[in-house]
Amino acid sequence: MSEVIRHDVVIVGGGAAGLRAAIAAVEASPNISVAMVSKVYPMRSHTVSAEGGAAAVAREDDSFEMHGYDTVKGSDFLGDQDVIQYFVEEAPKELTLMDHWGCPWSRNEDGSVATRAFGGMSTKRTWYAADKVGFHMLHTLFQHSMRFDRIVRYDEQFVTKLLVDGGAIRGVVALDVREGVVRTILGRAVILATGGAGKIFPFTTNGNIKTGDGMSLAYREGVALKDMEFVQYHPTGLPGTGILITEATRGEGGYVVNSDGERFLVTRDYGVGTKAELGPRDMISRAIVMEIEAGRGFKGPYGEYVHLDLTHLGEQKISTRLPMVRELAKTYIGVDPVVQPIPIRPVVHYMMGGVDTDIDGATVIPGLYAAGEVACVSLNGANRLGSNSLTECLVFGARAGTKAVEFAAGSNDGSEAVLRRMGEEEAARIEALRGKKKGGEKLARIRRELNQTMESGCGVYREQASMDETVRSVARLKGRYADLALEDTSSVFNTELVVALELGNMLDVAEALAVSAAHRKESRGAHTRKDFQTRDDQNYLYHTICHFDPAGPRLGKKAVTLGTWEPEERKY
Ligand SMILES: Cc1cc2nc3c(=O)[nH]c(=O)nc-3n(C[C@H](O)[C@H](O)[C@H](O)COP(=O)(O)OP(=O)(O)OC[C@H]3O[C@@H](n4cnc5c(N)ncnc54)[C@H](O)[C@@H]3O)c2cc1C
Repeated sequence: MSEVIRHDVVIVGGGAAGLRAAIAAVEASPNISVAMVSKVYPMRSHTVSAEGGAAAVAREDDSFEMHGYDTVKGSDFLGDQDVIQYFVEEAPKELTLMDHWGCPWSRNEDGSVATRAFGGMSTKRTWYAADKVGFHMLHTLFQHSMRFDRIVRYDEQFVTKLLVDGGAIRGVVALDVREGVVRTILGRAVILATGGAGKIFPFTTNGNIKTGDGMSLAYREGVALKDMEFVQYHPTGLPGTGILITEATRGEGGYVVNSDGERFLVTRDYGVGTKAELGPRDMISRAIVMEIEAGRGFKGPYGEYVHLDLTHLGEQKISTRLPMVRELAKTYIGVDPVVQPIPIRPVVHYMMGGVDTDIDGATVIPGLYAAGEVACVSLNGANRLGSNSLTECLVFGARAGTKAVEFAAGSNDGSEAVLRRMGEEEAARIEALRGKKKGGEKLARIRRELNQTMESGCGVYREQASMDETVRSVARLKGRYADLALEDTSSVFNTELVVALELGNMLDVAEALAVSAAHRKESRGAHTRKDFQTRDDQNYLYHTICHFDPAGPRLGKKAVTLGTWEPEERKY
């Protein structure tokens, strides 16, 4: 019999979005209890690895209007403008709150918060703490969350199912990875804050835990995934590992250079205008791929690359503003950026798409919310601007936390007998998978093939035939997944079982992504097609909605909320 626990609100995820939601929830009501379930210890969430910074208006030469317009333009006019408006207004409040909670923002001489330039932003509005921003933000949130004993943590517990009954969310089922037991954790509202899904691609900045679990959990229960075709490639990853070299390197004045020693973002027309290295990520990634295809890249053991040159910045600036970049480049590629350029190539970084929510983070299932990278609240549209994501986690994490508490207050518990039975059915499903010997397929093989097909069909440049092929191969891989054979029957830290569950989630997310991409016959933001090279507002100015169906994904459309800014050609 699996254990049943009850709280008022259940939050899945202990990254920036989950922690911010948890704090907002307990602050919203003096008696509410929150379960925070995370498959890893919260400080190991991917947020910890963010380097460059978080955006919010801070300077006199800046305004909400400017941050709003930059974000709308960056999104290639697919961001919802009501969401963007709310975001830019809340952003400074949230980052100031972080300051009060102890986040060590870097400072100017006069003690004011320092800001740096970031791609696609028209002024310096990215707050930073050297180049370890995610570490400091996550630490601040985690420590602040510990002040509330009403936030009860369930660390290293892997959520495998959402419990939906009687037309509302009722809780989750989680596998305790440490002990192997399965728990039913009930709550009158649930917030998904499970992060992105970069691991469906072979070459990514994302940690191994970013397998799209929350997207799959919601999708399986009938919530659509929105705008999944938009995958952000970050221009500057280390070849081989995919480790990120932050955009702050360009914000601080770094150059991108080809094998002829040419700053091609300055000398050639890649649409970034005078922004040069500070153009948006989608455009710079495409420019690098074009340079390599034109034979102006360097050849290396892990494929071709170009150079990120920081040598002119000098040791003092590199060591104070970008200490981690220096450390990473030295350790992982044997290059000291003070004296040598860093080899870099575009790398999968961020999912613009995710669980379809409204501005409150609410999904179509009453009581189910999502915030952070797992969600698509439609802030980022077809291309996210660097440093908007950490702030998004705070702004919409807080809003989802508050709204979930309001919902929980007016909802009921559902039938415990029914929920207990659902929990037991899920426990039995997991039990049947643990060490399942029957089957002819290996985990690693399916994952490798999934990675390969995602890269070949849904990379920086896309076209119909290869996307259609990816759609077919993911469907075949899903079939083969059912025939998986596992070996490890142990209960304690059975990582093979966890990886198998994650792979199931990755296949769902990959399928929704490929089907959504194959359907959009235009180029917009990060979705760039060789066969349809221009944006087509007449036919494609809408959000793609992808529904789960046992017969295969079903697509639909959702209107984009326009407002102050009319769609225009995206030129810098
Ligand atoms: C290397 C790197 C650098 C970045 N730098 C920046 C930057 O400088 N500025 C910026 O704005 N953005 C940056 N980003 C993006 C940004 O960091 C992320 O989008 C953001 O941190 C995501 O936070 P999150 O809370 O949504 O999810 P995460 O931090 O990924 O946390 C997800 C949480 O969900 C839990 N979880 C997942 N699945 C399950 C499950 N099945 N059961 C239970 N728990 C589960 C995990 O344990 C984890 O606690 C960067 C991203 C990367 C990869």
